[in-house]
Amino acid sequence: MPDLSLLAWSLILAALVIGILAGHFGWGKRWPRALGKLHPDYLTGLDYLVSEQPDRALDMFLKLMDANADTIETHFALGALYRRRGEVERAIRIHQNLLAREALAPEHREQALLALAQDYLRAGLLDRAEELFLKVSEVPRLRVSALSALRGVYERQHEWQQALGTYRLLARIKAAPPKRVAAHYLCELAALAIERGAIDAARSLLRQAREETSPFPRAAVLRAQIAEHAGDLELAERLLRAALSESPNLLQEELPHLSRLVGAERRDALLAELAAAAQVRDIGELRQLVFAAVAAGMAQAAPLRTAIETVFAKDETLRAVWQAGEARLERIGEEIGALLAHAERYRCSECGFSGRSFYWHCPACQSWETFETYAVVKLR
Ligand SMILES: [Zn+2]
Repeated sequence: MPDLSLLAWSLILAALVIGILAGHFGWGKRWPRALGKLHPDYLTGLDYLVSEQPDRALDMFLKLMDANADTIETHFALGALYRRRGEVERAIRIHQNLLAREALAPEHREQALLALAQDYLRAGLLDRAEELFLKVSEVPRLRVSALSALRGVYERQHEWQQALGTYRLLARIKAAPPKRVAAHYLCELAALAIERGAIDAARSLLRQAREETSPFPRAAVLRAQIAEHAGDLELAERLLRAALSESPNLLQEELPHLSRLVGAERRDALLAELAAAAQVRDIGELRQLVFAAVAAGMAQAAPLRTAIETVFAKDETLRAVWQAGEARLERIGEEIGALLAHAERYRCSECGFSGRSFYWHCPACQSWETFETYAVVKLR
């Protein structure tokens, strides 16, 4: 959320204050009588607010609100606003203040626990958030919110087994995200199993991923790894080809791998085939193929000549460099390749995070499958 300007924030806070007071004095119900006896603390609080001392203003309002249970919704609204604004400590104070009230109704206590858990999450206190979300997930009316948040906590901690378990609980009450998310958890677990050499466990996890959703390129890439390791190069090649055709975003990562699998003598045939398929689909895919091939040092491959010219012709800088160096295409190809190889090659379409590595799960905003190929060349 973009940061609110000081003026906008003051207006929102002022509106809330009026809300608090409306509850506090029962305005609307006994407006004329209450007008005559404004609480002196209110005026002091307003004064702090106007003189930009938000903490003292907050103290004053918490003291005021303590006296009156009618203002409960305003507590939650104010807490949520502080949290959204990134002022998590204030949000935590509001919710802890609510929970400290002995007379708080059970439904309000549950809601305050959920709000406090969200504050902890925002503050990065994941263990505390997890504990509270688990507790709140026992409350039927808050179960979906608590479990959904809990799934996010496990994702951030890379606790894939627990994320999967929470996903299954959500699926049972028809509140789970798309099945691809479960398939990603299974692939995360499979990748870990491959790492520790537990190949049978990895195979079983990948089978489960395919049962969630198919085709699923990520599972195909992992199965290709297993097949290659087991010496079944034909299967590895078939799986990689399927994954690349399904998800051209993987070309940057996997084209060198596929090229290695087919070997030097079949490499040109492979590139010709990929270029022909990409040309039929769209220019975006052709661009991905060309950039991946050039970055992997294949700029000289004869079957790519037309594709490279088509793609470079659409980019002013690349066209100029390419044409100027017509006589030295080999050298120019190598240089562009070197630039691309050191460029930031991916960007998250959700939050804009960019980097050189490909992620299925954005480390910044925790979205799945939002990484797109995108070359940012940094000139030194
Ligand atoms: Zn992101």
